[in-house]
Amino acid sequence: MEQYDIVVVGAGHAGCEAAAAAANMGSSVLLITMNMGVIAQMSCNPAMGGVGKGQIVREIDALGGYSGIVSDLSTVQFRMLNKSKGPAMWSPRSQNDRQLFAHTWRQKLESIPHLHFRQDTVTAVLVDRDPSGKTRITGVKTGLGTAVGCRAVVLTNGTFLSAVMHIGEKQFGGGRAGEKAAYGITEQLAELGFVSGRMKTGTPPRVDGRSIDYSVLEEQKGDEQPGKFSFSVETQVPKRQLSCWITHTSAEVHDTLRSGFDRSPMFSGRIQGQGPRYCPSIEDKINRFADKESHQIFVEPEGWNTVETYINGFSTSLPEEVQTAALRKLPGFANAQVFRPGYAVEYDYFPPTQVKHTLETKLVEGLYFAGQINGTTGYEEAACQGLMAGINAHLKSEGKESFTLARDQAYIGVLIDDLITKGTEEPYRMFTSRAEFRILLRQDNADQRLTPLSHQIGLASAARMHRVEQKSRYTNDLCSALRTESVPPETANALIVPRGTEAIKQKVKLHSLLLRPQLGFADIEALSQKITDLTSHFGHLREEVAQQVEIQMKYEGYIQKERDLAERLLRLEHVPLPADLPYEQLSSLSIEARQKLRNIQPQTIGQASRISGISPADISVLLVYLGR
Ligand SMILES: Cc1cc2nc3c(=O)[nH]c(=O)nc-3n(C[C@H](O)[C@H](O)[C@H](O)COP(=O)(O)OP(=O)(O)OC[C@H]3O[C@@H](n4cnc5c(N)ncnc54)[C@H](O)[C@@H]3O)c2cc1C
Repeated sequence: MEQYDIVVVGAGHAGCEAAAAAANMGSSVLLITMNMGVIAQMSCNPAMGGVGKGQIVREIDALGGYSGIVSDLSTVQFRMLNKSKGPAMWSPRSQNDRQLFAHTWRQKLESIPHLHFRQDTVTAVLVDRDPSGKTRITGVKTGLGTAVGCRAVVLTNGTFLSAVMHIGEKQFGGGRAGEKAAYGITEQLAELGFVSGRMKTGTPPRVDGRSIDYSVLEEQKGDEQPGKFSFSVETQVPKRQLSCWITHTSAEVHDTLRSGFDRSPMFSGRIQGQGPRYCPSIEDKINRFADKESHQIFVEPEGWNTVETYINGFSTSLPEEVQTAALRKLPGFANAQVFRPGYAVEYDYFPPTQVKHTLETKLVEGLYFAGQINGTTGYEEAACQGLMAGINAHLKSEGKESFTLARDQAYIGVLIDDLITKGTEEPYRMFTSRAEFRILLRQDNADQRLTPLSHQIGLASAARMHRVEQKSRYTNDLCSALRTESVPPETANALIVPRGTEAIKQKVKLHSLLLRPQLGFADIEALSQKITDLTSHFGHLREEVAQQVEIQMKYEGYIQKERDLAERLLRLEHVPLPADLPYEQLSSLSIEARQKLRNIQPQTIGQASRISGISPADISVLLVYLGR
């Protein structure tokens, strides 16, 4: 039997990151995917990042994953969302060339030694049960009848498990338009004791851009000074960008859509799976928000060299002719020609309380789940889980300690902790509001938070580490200079007063001027030759360091407060809970707490405290039991 250290099943966003991480760390990896022609497909919108998600892409990059680099190399438009709010909310987003994104990912994967590919469908995992009843992974079996042996398997089946697509009254087996569904795995895992559920997601029609009248649409340009995701020097900010466009639905559009409701798979009950709350279909929006007269629709390019256009906000599974008729009522769309109709897809997932922080399953040693299979939605959510599962599968197969991230270290830590402690009954997507320490978890400092950790376990390169060390050193140097350098009124006032801030009466430290909301680092730098001389040595890190210093100084109080709170919670966080703790016998626990603690088996008090339904009183009972 062929033998690898790790087999990754599925080459979506989770599978690509998992395979790349494990192979880059030194494991021999086989990536098995149903169709090698569609590696790293963006199944829905050709865009990466956005609120809460952009932070995740930056974190993946800081850890040495590829999603950021691949996004940068295929960006057609870049915007920093929420720029008018505080830096904890700034969220990078790119519009991407769909084909270039997939092509670039494949090139990256093919350049990794120890990473092998196979086009086939995995139909079962191979396991071994020892006399004590412990089940361990030994390999996978494929549709072509091949058995492959390995020490760990990462399942990243996405929307493909027993998947059914819906358009109006028509149904087709398949995980994505033009692609088959995957059968067998759900049934086998159920036999091993896993619980599965059903979810649903949907996508809008794609339209021929030549049939759209852009003159009546509102243009949405990219940032004048665009940024990028990757901290590495491998990518540059985009030199040219494409525009997106905005149009709106109207009562006429809504009426046309309503005319197809009697044939809607969502309203007829044919779709049973739970859909994404924050990405509803257009029929769901006009049904739920019946009093809203109009919804915004974003018209987004699919790439540099194609006329295909993505109609963001118009996700639908209504009959094809209803979709087209309603689209043609949108301003600018009277002659719209549809390339591909919208559709919905229902698929199996596994409630994520069945996995540990490492994303290894509790039931089968060496079996990992990552991505949409864990009940999440979105490329970024999938990719970061893939990265963490790939890292941990490698570490485990090497007999090394696992690698996990806490809630005060990364959005990735928040996401995994939410999933494994609270579970999810609807597709889970990330938001900044899910993170209690979002001032610490900013997109600008992801490299400083995570690259050292990743370098230590052998993933982030020495070059990345060197860059972070340099950035930190320059940041400290600049902070010290601003705290020691002073400026007299005759130099400062001419510049600061026109900015709308009060004149100074005596010499003040530059640091105190930077704290004024009306002033930014560029203003302060203009006041001191010494600061200008200092920053001139920072090279390509100059802008980044200046931004870092400005944020650190202006938000120092908030940052410190969150750090203190995180430290206080950390003390409880790490109090371990023994795996054999007899929850059933602790009669002072509520019945709900006993059931949930037994099912979820949290590893620490911190994790237990975040399970929904576990009260502070339950936590006290556990602490007393543990002698604390
Ligand atoms: C129609 C549709 C609409 C969507 N709409 C949205 C949306 O509006 N917003 C949003 O955030 N996200 C949306 N998504 C979800 C987004 O595409 C996923 O979150 C993301 O792609 C999940 O990544 P993944 O790696 O987990 O799985 P996928 O990207 O689905 O990749 C799974 C991979 O596994 C392979 N595979 C599956 N089973 C097997 C097997 N047994 N053997 C071998 N290979 C296998 C597949 O071929 C595929 O390559 C949508 C997805 C679809 C299909």
